Amino acid sequence: MHPSLKTLLNIQELDIKMIRLMRVKRQRQQELMQIKALRTELKEQMTLKEEEVAALNEEINRLEEKIQELSTKYKQLEEQQASIKKVEEFNALTHEMTAVEREKNALETQTSNVLDKKAAEEEILDKIKESLETSETNSNSLEEEIKLSIDKINEEGQQLKGQRDALTEKADPEIFKTYERLLRNKKDRVIVPIENRACSGCNITLTLQHENMVRKGESLVFCEHCSRIHYWPEEQAPEESGSTGRRRRRRVAQA
Ligand SMILES: [Zn+2]
Repeated sequence: MHPSLKTLLNIQELDIKMIRLMRVKRQRQQELMQIKALRTELKEQMTLKEEEVAALNEEINRLEEKIQELSTKYKQLEEQQASIKKVEEFNALTHEMTAVEREKNALETQTSNVLDKKAAEEEILDKIKESLETSETNSNSLEEEIKLSIDKINEEGQQLKGQRDALTEKADPEIFKTYERLLRNKKDRVIVPIENRACSGCNITLTLQHENMVRKGESLVFCEHCSRIHYWPEEQAPEESGSTGRRRRRRVAQA
């Protein structure tokens, strides 16, 4: 193996762990956002409903005022009528009183309808409040749990970074730069073993000449197809890649 690759393989294992860790972190952050979005939505629904109920209350007050005015007017007409002598005038007032009475009845029916509507809206409002409370109780503990797990992820990330920084100091700067560029593009392992004369990154079949160059390990050899860096797997495996090693052996066994 090319001498610079061993350190880089160890860095790579840390980077893969970090990539997975950040993926989990993003998922957890999304969960937090969903919880907040649900709460915001319920609060908006509640505000809207409260505004509707307030508008209905105003309407009821307005109607009741009008009914009151009509009652007063009716009484005035009644008093007026008591002092009237002429039949025609008396009849005209009766006519007017009937009209006032009819208008008042209509308004009372209208008021009763609005009251029904208000009761229905208030019932919906209560249900929204209830589910907001339930969701707040439930989501508070869930939110706490998610925040804790994000803290843990950050801690783990810091540890990985510390280990990585220590290894980076030992790495060949030029090859490290190349490695980092490849990793940024692929977000996956970019230093890969040759398996059954194929690139284990993209599975393209390699020439014998290519394989020999990798086996010699005198220079860095890149996959012509996916640009990954190749190494020969029968050499010493990277220190911290126990899982990779197992997976590699299993894959070879299956092939
Ligand atoms: Zn490849």
